Amino acid sequence: MPVRGFAIGAPTPRNLDSFIVFMNNELAPRGINTLILRIDYNYQFKTHPELADKNSLSTADVKKVVAAAKQNHIRLIPQINLLGHQSWAGETGKLLAVYPQFDETPWVKMPVNYVWPNADSLYCKSYCPLHPGVHKVVFDIVDEICDAFESNAFHAGMDEVFYIGEAKCPRCGGKDKSELFAGEVRTIRDHLAQKGRVLWIWGDRLLDGKTTGLGRWEASFNDTYRAVDMIPKDVVICDWHYERPDKTAVYFAMKGLQVITCPWRQPDVAVQQVRDMITFRQQATKEMQPRYLGVMETIWSPVTSFLNEYYGRPVDTTNTPSRTFNAMYEELKNLHKSH
Ligand SMILES: [Zn+2]
Repeated sequence: MPVRGFAIGAPTPRNLDSFIVFMNNELAPRGINTLILRIDYNYQFKTHPELADKNSLSTADVKKVVAAAKQNHIRLIPQINLLGHQSWAGETGKLLAVYPQFDETPWVKMPVNYVWPNADSLYCKSYCPLHPGVHKVVFDIVDEICDAFESNAFHAGMDEVFYIGEAKCPRCGGKDKSELFAGEVRTIRDHLAQKGRVLWIWGDRLLDGKTTGLGRWEASFNDTYRAVDMIPKDVVICDWHYERPDKTAVYFAMKGLQVITCPWRQPDVAVQQVRDMITFRQQATKEMQPRYLGVMETIWSPVTSFLNEYYGRPVDTTNTPSRTFNAMYEELKNLHKSH
């Protein structure tokens, strides 16, 4: 399996050394060869210091991770959420806090006490993909983080984009949402391609949430799913399903796209997803076979919480990210041995 991956938020300067120990002692022996680190604004950007979070990673910090990755033959891919996820609950992310003109929905005020559902259907803010200034800023930091990580791929997130093509946006109003989404994917992909880098994204906006029953988070209710036929075929799809082992990898592979199946915190689901990926690779045509890239666990708690859980006292619940981690990579190792 070409990709045996792990995705987690980037460590902070404080837990950087613990994380490197985890890379050496846990990721490497399990043969994990791909590590996605969500950076967002946790980096001291030189091109845009105004976008750096407080206590963010320095270049020297990142180089420590790069050295550990090289030593363990792990491909390192940085992630910055583009398009969607520009806010979380009641908090605006750095990009829109500093550049409010890029906001797709400036009329939606951030609530003091965030609740879902709400009258604005606010899940997370998006930037306007047609704002003439947004890509200059965003691509500066994308290039800078890829240079720092010495990476030949970049993960742009692009999941759970609820605000897109809003009627009240003077640029996007009335436009086809699938075309807007695909247009943004292509713009980012083309930019990365100039430096030989590959774009990775989450797959949910490319799945039809109503017809499949997958719902509005892990698939799209907002008419973006037709973009699956409009995006360049070299974009790598990270296809996350956390509660059932949905077989959507087949759909992406049939569309000509490379796909990685992503579990989170249910060991039984993750083990089935590993088995499915092996089966897909064994039973596919020679055209589709190379598109089934592999599996990648995704962790949504901060590094410290994950490491505390991983190294801490066992808890009673079965469904935890660290138990899933152990079960999933154990299954991969066993299947490897038996073939
Ligand atoms: Zn817009």
